[in-house]
Parts: sequence; structure tokens; C-alpha cells
Amino acid sequence: MTTLRQQMIELLREEELDAIELSQLLSIPEKEVYDHLPHLARTLASSREKLIISPYLCLLCDYSFTGRSRFDRPGRCPRCKNSHIRMATYTIR
Ligand SMILES: [Zn+2]
Repeated sequence: MTTLRQQMIELLREEELDAIELSQLLSIPEKEVYDHLPHLARTLASSREKLIISPYLCLLCDYSFTGRSRFDRPGRCPRCKNSHIRMATYTIR
């Protein structure tokens, strides 16, 4: 039996996905994806693979949320206060 996290790892090995796509593929709420991602990153830390994050990006001023410790969606851009933020995407390499 494969666990949800194993399924997530397998999906992210295949392609780069955002939290909405992961929630649809795994049939779980988007919120739950954000709960699993930090655990997944820790699990991978002890292996040769790595969770690669393309950070959230402000669509107005290109502010990049690099190094953000939280995984859930930011409400607004801290620089221009715009709320149109491109989703972060994840892949495993
Ligand atoms: Zn901005």
C-alpha cells in the first residue's frame, strides 16, 4: 500500500506541479497539500533527492517569495501589495 506522501513523491519525480494540481491528482484539499510538503522536504533531506521549489511570484512587480518558510499561499505581495500571485511549483530531483 502506498501512502499519500509516497504518491506525492512519485508525482513530483515525474513533473513539476503546484499545490492545486497536487490536490486534484491526489483527491485531497489544497490545504492538506501544504501540510504534507514540509514533511516531504524533511523526508527527502536524508536521501539523495531534493524538493525543488519555484517560489511564489508577484505577477505585478515580479517580487519572488524566495526562502519563504511557509508553504501556503501568501495573501499579498509585501512590496506592491498586489494579490495576484503566481503559484509556487514543486518538483523532486
Ligand atoms: Zn508585487
